[in-house]
Amino acid sequence: METRQWEHAGLTIEGCSLAGIQTSLTLPQYSIALDVANGLPHAISMNTFFISHGHMDHAAGIPYIISQKAMRAHKKPRFYMPESMLAPMEEIMHQWGRIEGHEYDYEFIGARLGEEYEIKKNIFMKPFPTIHRIPSFGYSLYRKFRKLRWDLAGSSTAEIATVRKEGEDPTEERDELLVSFTGDTQIEFLDQTPEVRKSKILILETTYLDKKKTIRSAKDWGHTHLEELLPRLNTISSEKIVLIHTSARYSWEEAQGLLHSLLPKNERERVMLFPRK
Ligand SMILES: [Zn+2]
Ligand SMILES: [Zn+2]
Repeated sequence: METRQWEHAGLTIEGCSLAGIQTSLTLPQYSIALDVANGLPHAISMNTFFISHGHMDHAAGIPYIISQKAMRAHKKPRFYMPESMLAPMEEIMHQWGRIEGHEYDYEFIGARLGEEYEIKKNIFMKPFPTIHRIPSFGYSLYRKFRKLRWDLAGSSTAEIATVRKEGEDPTEERDELLVSFTGDTQIEFLDQTPEVRKSKILILETTYLDKKKTIRSAKDWGHTHLEELLPRLNTISSEKIVLIHTSARYSWEEAQGLLHSLLPKNERERVMLFPRK
């Protein structure tokens, strides 16, 4: 599949996603990749890789990307992934090393809930739980900033100056969720981590769009059906909801047509498919 570039609010996302085939998105401004599919050229120049889960269409490219980066003398890449992937991936790298007679330099780190990983000053990534057939995470990129404390909202400059004089900090730390990426998941992850609904951009797997597959069968495979998303749209405050991982059974035109006909009119701007064409 060819990769596409999409932009919203100054943030560029490049990549492609089709269920069972390839999912890999990059945020070049932050040198981050979200999943690596089978190792696509657009991800090779990234520094940090966040892997949602170990299905091959999301993660098979890890060894290839490591080898490409070594060949280009890039700095050592760092991969975050569910902890259950660590030992098998180390083993796979070891076996590739045997085949090639070469030892690669890379870093595999087990992502943990509750941890935050610094990308650059004030910008962090944190994993959130998702519900799939094997251990899986989604990831949220967010910005930390300081803002006037809630309890001081509406205070005058003089009142705030008094707080300062008393040796207190009138500001508090806040998070702004910039992008959340789900990898593969059932829709109920939204109930486990409701804050994800506030991400400026929510990249959400929606494998099935119409009656060709039932909600039941979407759940059996650990996926989301568009019919499950529709009644939840009004609980999501994201500026953009970008659907990825649609089933290959829908051509681009068919998927576009289905989405257009099934979405309420007022959501047709906000909810979109990650471009395939
Ligand atoms: Zn998948
Ligand atoms: Zn999967």
